[in-house]
Amino acid sequence: MSYVHETILQLERSSPAQTEFYQAVEEVLESLRVVLETHKKYREHAIIERIVEPERQIMFRVPWMDDHGKIHVNKGYRIEFNSALGPYKGGLLFHPNVDAGVIKFLGFEQIFKNALTGLPLGAGKGGANFNPKGRSEAEIMRFCQSFKKQLYRHVGPQTDVPAGDIGVGAREIGYLFGQYKRPTGRYEGVITGKGLLWGARSLARKEATGYGCVYFAHQMLADKGLDLAGRDCLESGAGNVAIYAIEKLYAFGARPITCSDSTGMIHDPRGIDLETLKRLKEVQKAGLEEYARLYAEARFVPIDGYPDDGHALWRIPAELAFPCATQNELTGADAEALVDNGCIAVVEGANMPSTPEAADVLQAAKTFYGPGKAANAGGVDTSQLEMSQNASMQCGTFEQVDTWLKAIMAGIYARARDTAIEFDAPDNLVLGANVAGFMRVADAMIEQGLV
Ligand code: NDP
Repeated sequence: MSYVHETILQLERSSPAQTEFYQAVEEVLESLRVVLETHKKYREHAIIERIVEPERQIMFRVPWMDDHGKIHVNKGYRIEFNSALGPYKGGLLFHPNVDAGVIKFLGFEQIFKNALTGLPLGAGKGGANFNPKGRSEAEIMRFCQSFKKQLYRHVGPQTDVPAGDIGVGAREIGYLFGQYKRPTGRYEGVITGKGLLWGARSLARKEATGYGCVYFAHQMLADKGLDLAGRDCLESGAGNVAIYAIEKLYAFGARPITCSDSTGMIHDPRGIDLETLKRLKEVQKAGLEEYARLYAEARFVPIDGYPDDGHALWRIPAELAFPCATQNELTGADAEALVDNGCIAVVEGANMPSTPEAADVLQAAKTFYGPGKAANAGGVDTSQLEMSQNASMQCGTFEQVDTWLKAIMAGIYARARDTAIEFDAPDNLVLGANVAGFMRVADAMIEQGLV
């Protein structure tokens, strides 16, 4: 039995019913085969057995009261996965589908993503199975306060620094930070993505993941003598990552023609109207059907109108695709449709948006494929800048952060590309990203001894 297979079986026994986690581990381990064969020290030091097991898992009850006096209880998580390279770092997500398996998959991905940035960042992830949809401001605040009342004792600027993710934006970060300050009395960089009005502000954090994803795509295409300008792009999602990827695609002269949310998708062949999208999703928190009511040219397809084997959005012809909503949102059948329609590149803004079958189809078709753990690292990059700004009590300008982001994304691309070449798999950025990230963490783990 292969080492990879053995590890997955062991995980299934020790951590049952965590499907997304096994999927993420399998994808990484498959691409590490070549390193494990040629670098025996990693097996001698049991790096695989150690890296798949979080250093610490914190699970807690989050009780809160709604506006009608009814008590609810949610489950909160913080998985501190790996601290070989720095304090645990990674987002918090509030979504009804959150469970230990989802948080562990995201925390595991975060190890390699953070390592690949070259920055001093460990990896963690957290959140709660709380659905913020339809909740009042007061309910959201009470939930965040209850969540942080449990979590505050585990975090700190040198130990664990969470950030936002799905369902956790600037508003929630504000409430979480406020609740940290109350019992500790400390105003310090204990969470990133902080509001623009405060002393510890974070310029360009909101834009960073979407912008970074497009900078990555720009590097990837430029390497092949191609560019973004004039190309139609499929974009999924209508949240933080998708909106700012759309903004940056326009800046490069590309035309994003789709977006989606949990209700359905929009196809606007003239290009998505960014200001309308921002107003609908960031201000009104409306569903996307509303967009189609405003523009006769736009078409809305509700989720129940999607094909059985995938997502209607990926069936629309375009040259570039940016999955920016959620995990496993691009299936094997979707990938086949993209390839048949002449899509030349898929660059992932979301975490693990392509199923393993989709990744296989894209790679077999030689589609340029930028995996999430490399292409969506822009958020964590600027978070690290925010941490260092907080430590020195200084703030950079938007332009400085954006320039820094562009350079970091170019570095991430180059590291993944060069590692793929070194391991005899040119253009395989999945392998390049996994191997480069792994070797940095694994070597640090060996140097720090058996801990
Ligand atoms: P948001 O909550 O801001 O947006 C998520 C978007 O995806 C929303 O439009 C949401 O719809 C849609 N969505 C969420 N779940 C589903 C689902 N199950 N089916 C269909 N649509 C869905 O999150 P972000 O933009 O921050 O994150 C998007 C992805 O990027 C996630 O995979 C996240 O882990 C990843 N990521 C985010 C980073 C960041 O900096 N924010 C950093 C790195 C990765 P609706 O509007 O209806 O809720």
